[in-house]
Order: sequence, then C-alpha cells, then structure tokens
Amino acid sequence: MQKDTVVFDIIRKELERQRRGIELIASENFTSLQVMQAMGNVMTNKYAEGYPGRRYYGGCEIVDQTEQLAIDRLKAIFGIEYANVQPHSGAQANAAVMLAILQPGDDILGLDLSMGGHLTHGSAVNFSGKLYKPHFYGVGKEDGLVDYDMLEAKAREIKPKLIICGASAYSRDWDYVRIRKVADEVGAFVMADIAHPAGLIAKGLLKSPFDHCHFVTSTTHKTLRGPRGGVIMMKKDFENPFGLKDVKGNLRLMSNLMDMAVFPGTQGGPLEHVIAAKAVAFGEILTPEFLTYQQQVQKNAQAMAKAFTDKGYQIISGGTDNHLMLIDLRNKNISGKKAEQVLEHADITANKNMVPYDDKSAFVTSGVRFGVAAITSRGMKESDMQFVVNAIDTVLMNADDEALHRKVKQEVNEFMTQFVLYPEMG
Ligand code: PLP
Repeated sequence: MQKDTVVFDIIRKELERQRRGIELIASENFTSLQVMQAMGNVMTNKYAEGYPGRRYYGGCEIVDQTEQLAIDRLKAIFGIEYANVQPHSGAQANAAVMLAILQPGDDILGLDLSMGGHLTHGSAVNFSGKLYKPHFYGVGKEDGLVDYDMLEAKAREIKPKLIICGASAYSRDWDYVRIRKVADEVGAFVMADIAHPAGLIAKGLLKSPFDHCHFVTSTTHKTLRGPRGGVIMMKKDFENPFGLKDVKGNLRLMSNLMDMAVFPGTQGGPLEHVIAAKAVAFGEILTPEFLTYQQQVQKNAQAMAKAFTDKGYQIISGGTDNHLMLIDLRNKNISGKKAEQVLEHADITANKNMVPYDDKSAFVTSGVRFGVAAITSRGMKESDMQFVVNAIDTVLMNADDEALHRKVKQEVNEFMTQFVLYPEMG
C-alpha cells in the first residue's frame, strides 16, 4: 500500500510545531518515545470487550497481559485495591463513576466551571449537568481558595448523592478530610478527579485523596505523562449500598458496578494499544526518575509564579502548590482571548481561562492558565522560567506590535533548540 504522505507530512509538521514552541497548556505533556511506540501497535486490531480473564472475544490472552500489567502497576503507584484502565478519556471515567452510583435527576455537587472546575462536574452543556441535577461550590473572592464553608453549607442544604472535588484550573491542594466528613454527615459519595495533579500525588508531593474519597478518577496524559486516556481507582473495594446482586444472589461489590459502568455501561471495546501505552507510562512512574521529574515540575511552577508576581501579574490564590497557575489579567488590560492569540504569534501556547467572579464570557475571559508539566519534560529548570516569563510579558504588554511578536518568536525558537524533543525522530 502506498504511504499516505499527505497525513504523515501533516504529522511531521505537528512534531516541528511542538519542537519549536513553548508549551504551557497545563493539561498537556510530552510522553516518552516508548509510550508512543506502544500506542502504535497491532493491539489496535484486537477486540477485547470484557476484562482480563473474562472477555467476550477469543484471542485475548495476550492483550490480557498488558491490561493486567497496567492495572497492577497503577495499583502499585497509588497503593490501592482497585483500578480500571479502560476509560478512553477522563470524561468517560467520570461518566462511568456517575453511571455506577447515580440515578438520573440525582443531586451532585462540584466546583463551578467558572471557578476552575471541569465540564464533567455538572456543567449544563455536559452529560453531568443534563442527566443529574448539578449544584456548585466556589472559591473565595478575596483569597481564591476553595470555600469549604460554602461547600459544607451546600452539602447540608442539598444532601447530594455525590460530592466532586478536583479541578482543571486550581493551583492549590485539597482538604479531602473535610470533604469526606461532610459527605458522611449527609450520606454522599466523594469522587476526587485528580486529572491534573495525579503525577504529583503519585510521588507524594501533594496530599493523597485515596483514604478519604470513595472513587478517584484521572486522565493519564497530563502530569502522569502517559497516552491520552482515563482511569478509575478505589483505595478499598466495598459492598455496594444499592443491594444489587449477581446471578448467584451474591451482593455485587462496588468494583463490579464500576467495571460494569465502564463496559458495557459507557464503552464497547477497550483500546488495548492505548492500554499497552498506559502500562508503559505507569512503569515509568514507578521509577525514581519520575520523582525527580515531579519535583522539578513543582520547582518550575513556583519559580514561574514568582517571576510573574515580580512583574505585577496577579495569580489567583497568590501562588501554586502544583504544576499550574491561573493569572487574572484584568490589571494588565488584556483579555484571556487576546493573550492566547498573541502568545501564539510567538510560538507560546497557553489557554484563555475564566477567573473566579469573571465579568467576561467563557469565549473572552479575563484570565490565562499556564502549566509547566510539558516544559519540564523538555528539560527546563527554574533558571529557565525567567526567559519564559519575560517572553510572555513582552508579548502581552505589546499586544498589537506584531513585529515585536515575530522577534520574540525567533528568540523562543532559538531558546527551544536547547531542549531537544524526540531526537530519535530525526
Ligand atoms: N477532569 C479534569 C479535572 C480535567 O481537567 C479534564 C481535562 O482537561 C478531564 C476530566 C477530561 O479529560 P478528557 O479530556 O480526557 O476527557
């Protein structure tokens, strides 16, 4: 068969774009070469509905091995009893947890999208806000920190079936103990969505949610530095409280309900080639080098936050505990939308983001979110953060000077040649 040069040429251009730019989108990262190699393999040809050792198709004995390895490695990373590695994405992991434990119309309580929460935590445009009845807590107007008093008051008033913690644009650690306490009081389950900080939690650099949250979901492609995908985890399995029994009349465990909610509940055949890549990534996370990487992520984020603060930028909550920061640009007289656009002129990629109590729409926004997981994978250290912040500041403070943007772009491209990306690809 003739090589599809059209598509492969486009893929090559994407490699070059990734190489020459500064990648600051907080949800992105660069996987290792072997993670990508594991994804492009013959397992994409295989149907494997079901789970290792209990499939609905023949010929699954080999893919069983990689899926079991992914499960076992993920359990070892977090010291947990249950892991499901099949969700195709973080959104599907969250959908499966909700399908397993909620009925349509049940009340759920999550962090407001405009305060840093995620679409799948109850947004009106998402399944979570359409199928269930969403309620939200927020962050303090002054301090930008999760308002646990508000969370508790709403939980007591609404008595939701599920409280969701975790966020897409929140730079601080969470008080899981406090959330579990009020959940127990009102009879709610707690789900922590650790999609963003999972890599830091894996290496003990942030608090672990596992002792306090019934369910923990994550993506695998952000700070975990794996292929795109999702996972569902539980520290301890437990008897489901819904009285659901199997054909033999035994009470089903929560792990059974969770597995059933992924397949057949929300997905058909798992992506076994991606699961092989998850297994590779989880193997990398278990190494000491991954701790060094995550420590560097935290150091870089703090150095970047300091450099921004020194230039008069306002970071929501005043700083960061994890890999990201949300900047309120209102005192700099530029919208998030414009900032995202002009940064792209200089090959710096980031995303506009609403800030808490934003007066602009989600299409315009007053903020921008920066994350350092990807640039840390490129090899940047704290001392490099000043260059990055200077470049961003020059562009944002001269937002209409396209000639200057071109000059900064050249400097950025030159700077990035030190941080070689995928040299094996030529
Ligand atoms: N949960 C959180 C907190 C996220 O930030 C994201 C993605 O950004 C997701 C879930 C969804 O992940 P995916 O894009 O893989 O569906």
